[in-house]
Amino acid sequence: MVSFGLTEEQQSLKEIAARFAVDKIRPVAAALDERSEFPSALIKEGHSLGLINLTLPAELGGSGLGLFDACLVIEEIAWGCSGFATSMVANDLALTPIRIGATEDQKKRFLEPVITSGQLASFCLTEPGAGSDAAGLQTTVEDGGDCWILNGSKQWITNAGHASQYTVFATHDRTKRAKGISCFVVPRSTPGIEVGHHENKMGQRCSDTCRVTFDNVRVPKDHLIGAQGEGFKIAMQTLDASRPLTAAIAVGIGRAALEHAVAYSKERKQFGNAISSFQGIQFMLADMATGVEASRMLTWRSAWLLDQGKTASIESSMAKRLSADTAMSVATDAVQIYGGYGYTKEYPVEKLMRDAKLLQIYEGTSQVQRIVIARELLK
Ligand SMILES: Cc1cc2nc3c(=O)[nH]c(=O)nc-3n(C[C@H](O)[C@H](O)[C@H](O)COP(=O)(O)OP(=O)(O)OC[C@H]3O[C@@H](n4cnc5c(N)ncnc54)[C@H](O)[C@@H]3O)c2cc1C
Repeated sequence: MVSFGLTEEQQSLKEIAARFAVDKIRPVAAALDERSEFPSALIKEGHSLGLINLTLPAELGGSGLGLFDACLVIEEIAWGCSGFATSMVANDLALTPIRIGATEDQKKRFLEPVITSGQLASFCLTEPGAGSDAAGLQTTVEDGGDCWILNGSKQWITNAGHASQYTVFATHDRTKRAKGISCFVVPRSTPGIEVGHHENKMGQRCSDTCRVTFDNVRVPKDHLIGAQGEGFKIAMQTLDASRPLTAAIAVGIGRAALEHAVAYSKERKQFGNAISSFQGIQFMLADMATGVEASRMLTWRSAWLLDQGKTASIESSMAKRLSADTAMSVATDAVQIYGGYGYTKEYPVEKLMRDAKLLQIYEGTSQVQRIVIARELLK
């Protein structure tokens, strides 16, 4: 039987996240954005409420949620501030390769301490010269006898300035592309690691994004996750699992923009009437609401499929693509409905428009999602 109803547990989970977003995140979101400030104290608070490490195993300190339940939480948090939600989701993203590919002993060593202490981790795949074409990454790993030796640079790494541990993808042989890549756990304190400055971004400014450089970084042999050459597969499985969460961030932004636009359109009077009485505005609101609802449905379905243990590359790419593009168009329309006021920092919708743009870029651009969808269709 198909049901769109949430259980009592899911309702209460959603309410805990919503309360945190209303009471703690929303009131400081604009100031964090203005100062481009990482919300360390709020992250700690979120961790103590079990709102971070949502999809990581409960026996290792995570919240042990399925992706569907995690999407409910993430939509609420992103409604409060998507930069905060990105920092949260990036932690799951960094630790998921270990959940997927590590031995039980490695999980105990590399997941439990980070999760239970509330530390952060980063997923290090993208490089200055390898974004959409991740299989073309250039960071090398050499067998140094008693250790692995890493050299190269990673770009746009979320949480990097605050993380204690990095999950790094590096190649043994560039000519082998995907088949030459392995995955490693690298403690931040390892000599030879340099973390760049916090990028001065257009949106999601409270999330921390830096370059990370590895200069002859020596990593113990048992920090290899999965078999040698299996790293790219682990990275792609991780991104498949993460796309519904990223889509849920987009749904949260879209919903926030829609709510602001509805409220403002009822208050703002022109030609002697509230602008909400004009059909031109009503049609915009109707399309915005339809887009947000459709995004949520695709997001829920892709998360549900993955929770059932099914492959959902096409569905999770559809969810990410539609939700990201919808968040951008809904936020842009919200600015339009606010008119000149929407174009200033006095009102919340310009931040939403800046924040939404990132959803079309990270974790695979909207073009890359289309490539994945088309590839599956044409198989
Ligand atoms: C704020 C932020 C946080 C991020 N966090 C992380 C992180 O934590 N970890 C991590 O590893 N990465 C992270 N990323 C990297 C992100 O995933 C990449 O930016 C993204 O994959 C795009 O890569 P690129 O920026 O190199 O763009 P490019 O790959 O250079 O793409 C440029 C343009 O070309 C288009 N394009 C590329 N190839 C094709 C094609 N074959 N067909 C059609 N169009 C194409 C793209 O869609 C895009 O519009 C982050 C990025 C940002 C901006």
